[in-house]
Amino acid sequence: MKQIYIIGMGPGKVEMMTGEAVCVLEQADVIVGYTVYLNLLSERFQGKELLSTPMRQEKERCELCFREAEKGKRVALVCSGDAGIYGMASLMYEIGKAYPDIELIVIPGITAASSGAAVLGAPINHDFCVISLSDLLTPWETIARRLRTAAEGDFVIVLYNPSSHKRKDYLKRACDILLCSLDGARACGYVENIGREGTKTETCTLRELREKEVNMFTTVFIGNAGTEIMNGKLVTKRGYCVK
Ligand code: SAH
Repeated sequence: MKQIYIIGMGPGKVEMMTGEAVCVLEQADVIVGYTVYLNLLSERFQGKELLSTPMRQEKERCELCFREAEKGKRVALVCSGDAGIYGMASLMYEIGKAYPDIELIVIPGITAASSGAAVLGAPINHDFCVISLSDLLTPWETIARRLRTAAEGDFVIVLYNPSSHKRKDYLKRACDILLCSLDGARACGYVENIGREGTKTETCTLRELREKEVNMFTTVFIGNAGTEIMNGKLVTKRGYCVK
């Protein structure tokens, strides 16, 4: 049976890919992905055919994988982080309905919530939820409801896609929703360019976060009631008794 591997490559550098992902990429004939990610991989995986489609052409990129696999090539589709977390895995299964003879195999990767948390300290060491602020495919009302209910449930909240060229004020809008029920002193943090050149990290309060301008390569963390900034690190306590 023909197979396509859908690979989460982690936040950026090869050292942060799993051994399984590296192994599958080494065996691939063709690697398909967004140009930025292919550039990150091109040095380590020389001699592979690299195919890409521009940003926002995700459907075309998936279809390209199936066409290449039908030619008998070993195809690997790469996504940043984990391919099953705001990645291409589900779209591949949807398009794959028309290709019952091609098996899809998902290889997990380190998602930004996990790699970003490691940079900040230990912010998601209790119940947490991940919310994307991108309203390209999700209505803003749904995003707003998820923010409200996550705050009500005292979850640590991890925000993906906190900003883009067209959505510069979305983080501010999200903070305004959260500030309706959370204290402005709530401990927060964010990391830009995790595992890539120019990693930048900051801790702040929710009130301060509202005023920050972050870019699309940033993951934002909003603590729960038990989160504290300890020696500059963002830490969500588990509840142990520490004297
Ligand atoms: N599949 C990816 C998420 C894609 S959605 C994953 O599992 O990590 C894109 C969002 O992910 C970005 O807007 C940002 O919020 C986050 N992200 C992905 N890679 C990142 C990185 N290297 N540094 C910081 N944030 C990142």
